[in-house]
Amino acid sequence: MTKRDALTCEVQIDGAWCAVSLDEAAINHPMDVKRCPACHGQVMILGAYSGPNVRRSMSHRRSHNGCPRQANGYTGTPSPHPQALK
Ligand SMILES: [Zn+2]
Repeated sequence: MTKRDALTCEVQIDGAWCAVSLDEAAINHPMDVKRCPACHGQVMILGAYSGPNVRRSMSHRRSHNGCPRQANGYTGTPSPHPQALK
């Protein structure tokens, strides 16, 4: 099952949040702050190598059970991250 909208995050560029793909975030913005588009909590990009391809995923720095983007523990009710980035 492919969830295309799970493959983006937001990167802070010159003070503005821009939605980018996880590949773009990892390659072009490795040092910039990134956040989850759903709950606005800070995230990091993980890359898993499988053959010639890199499968990237997004991981919350601090897990949040009110985020539908979180793979584990989502309560089913979306809520803002307690440490959301503005
Ligand atoms: Zn989130």
